[in-house]
Amino acid sequence: SITLSHRVKAVKPSPTLAITARAATMRAAGKDIIGLGAGEPDFDTPDNIKTAAINAINNGFTKYTAVDGTAGLKKAIIAKFKRDNGFDYQAKQILVSCGGKQSFFNLAQALLNTGDEVIIPAPYWVSYPDMVLLADGVPVIIETGQAQNFKITPAQLRAAITSKTRLLVINSPSNPTGAAYSLAELKALGEVLREFPDVLIASDDMYEHVLWHKGEFVNILNANPDFYDRTIVLNGVSKAYSMTGWRIGYAAGPADLIEAMCIVQSQSTSNPTSISQVAAEEALNGDQSCIDNMLAAFKKRHDYVVAELNTIDGIECLPTDGTFYVFPNVEKLIAKLDGINDDLEYAEYLIETAGVALVPGSAFGCPGHIRVSIATSMDNLVNALARIKQAS
Ligand code: PLP
Repeated sequence: SITLSHRVKAVKPSPTLAITARAATMRAAGKDIIGLGAGEPDFDTPDNIKTAAINAINNGFTKYTAVDGTAGLKKAIIAKFKRDNGFDYQAKQILVSCGGKQSFFNLAQALLNTGDEVIIPAPYWVSYPDMVLLADGVPVIIETGQAQNFKITPAQLRAAITSKTRLLVINSPSNPTGAAYSLAELKALGEVLREFPDVLIASDDMYEHVLWHKGEFVNILNANPDFYDRTIVLNGVSKAYSMTGWRIGYAAGPADLIEAMCIVQSQSTSNPTSISQVAAEEALNGDQSCIDNMLAAFKKRHDYVVAELNTIDGIECLPTDGTFYVFPNVEKLIAKLDGINDDLEYAEYLIETAGVALVPGSAFGCPGHIRVSIATSMDNLVNALARIKQAS
């Protein structure tokens, strides 16, 4: 057999994509499976965005573009940062990539040397630790739980920082917990970070627009404007505009770091798809009411699912601030169920006996929980909840 690299042996395939694939295979075999594993909105990409892409094809905009993105899309991104976040960036501070996933991948490759530490609060988006490992970095996980609404405290942050810390990752609102940090919480984390000027911060704002808590969206840079030269803001069109398949994400930050990330990209994928870039430009510049429609549906489903889950003996589910996930604690339920010892076995039990596919909390570094995606129809949610209840 072929000897593979130590890097690839250190990582695992994305568990969330694996669950979705497993549900699809079972469905193809004739099983009745409701999928609550999805990490993408169940809505179609809005028509104005599709039309822009179709026009791009018809106009022959089908060739290589600049590696870092077209001038038009970068302009739209710069305008978006000003409009939504109050941030000023120049074109050389922006890198457009093939999804938010590649943005973070480029960052890890451009920044980390062997042994460099990256602080990742758990529960975390499944890809952060593995992308750090692929760059020969060391993920340093800070554990949080329901009691602290899955958010790290300043004391936890301080305890995690060492002389090798290169980067802190903040994802708010969070996949998988739906929790968003407040301005005050981000200021408090900022006080710790101010003592360690060499630590950079990656603010993953992918779910910025999928937010219903009171008040505006804020990230760590809003709370600590003096961190401008040490913060990389990551965002994209996948979640807000239901464009997961188009593969457009973007990063903004210090020009020298962005340039280094662009070099990584120039030797891997080159530019993201020309047609998708035109679509993303329309998404950012065009009518934003599509976001409100999606948000209203997610909020309704969220309220229903959280209330229903909490009626089940052994399940405790916090309401969230946003995203299309809820992240209930199921430890007491697991303790009650014969032959089920942990969240992995519980997820397996649900898919096999109840026909409900969802992702166990362990995949996000938080055992004893499950991630329920509400990016599916109300009918599916009603059926799924009845099945989960039945199996409890
Ligand atoms: N960041 C977070 C927190 C996510 O949940 C995701 C997608 O699941 C991404 C980034 C990447 O999104 P994409 O690569 O599809 O643009």
